[in-house]
Amino acid sequence: MSDTSVPCIAPYMHVPISVGPKAQKVTVKVGQGANMHVWQVPAVLLWNASGWFRDQLQDADRNMRRRGLAFPEEDPIAFSAFIDFMYSGTLDSSRNLHSETPLKVYLPVIVSVFTFASAYDVPMLRNTAIDMFFLRMAAGPDNLPYHIITQVYENTSRNSSLRDLVTTTFVNIGRPREFEHNREILPRAFLVDCLVGAAQDETIPFEHRDRSTRKEWLADKQEHICEEYHYHDDDKDMGSDGGWTNSTGSDDLWGGPTGRFKKGKEVSEKTKRELAFIGELAQNPRYARY
Ligand SMILES: [Zn+2]
Repeated sequence: MSDTSVPCIAPYMHVPISVGPKAQKVTVKVGQGANMHVWQVPAVLLWNASGWFRDQLQDADRNMRRRGLAFPEEDPIAFSAFIDFMYSGTLDSSRNLHSETPLKVYLPVIVSVFTFASAYDVPMLRNTAIDMFFLRMAAGPDNLPYHIITQVYENTSRNSSLRDLVTTTFVNIGRPREFEHNREILPRAFLVDCLVGAAQDETIPFEHRDRSTRKEWLADKQEHICEEYHYHDDDKDMGSDGGWTNSTGSDDLWGGPTGRFKKGKEVSEKTKRELAFIGELAQNPRYARY
């Protein structure tokens, strides 16, 4: 897979804006103790990128401006990536917190950025995090990142788009041997979601598939990331609240899977056996961490 981008119907959505040196700044403190970092962020950048910050700035009085905003529970690395994104429109140029060395955006950072972007209404950053997560999996389909699944499940809630992307990818291109190797570290909720997703997709989870079949699946998925997982400004009409929350209880502006499931077809005997196997695994208290 040589493509390094995901097609999007709204690629123009995050337009980085130029900020003059005299722009009004907001003090933002993120993290706590020795891990706290302080930024002076141009208010116009926050206003441009985030619905949540827009609301805060709209209601801001002089006190708030003086005190700034504090986020002790948030991850300074995710905030740093957010700042880079506001300037550049991408995550590729994220800098290390302590130096000017470009930071390789590792999967744990992508998950953290996704969580941050979902919580603070930064739809374009959220979409970019989804894209990067997918492209990272697509770049190494023989070594899917089982190690990241627990973090994904700890930082998202039911019906999260990131959870859906992870489970559907692992179910469809995860290899049986790797699954065997890793199943003890997998959260129970993930196994249950795999079971449900496989039943809905009428596919056999973790079945052996040859390399070209897996690559084909990834190429097709890449084409559909935008329609299945992105959130665009146009989608705001979807709900009475302006679309910022949705009826499926998802945590991340996502409306739930669309048109992905074929319904009403018989599930084969083999699929039933595989599903029963995963179901048993999910019941096993050894894996019942969630
Ligand atoms: Zn899109």
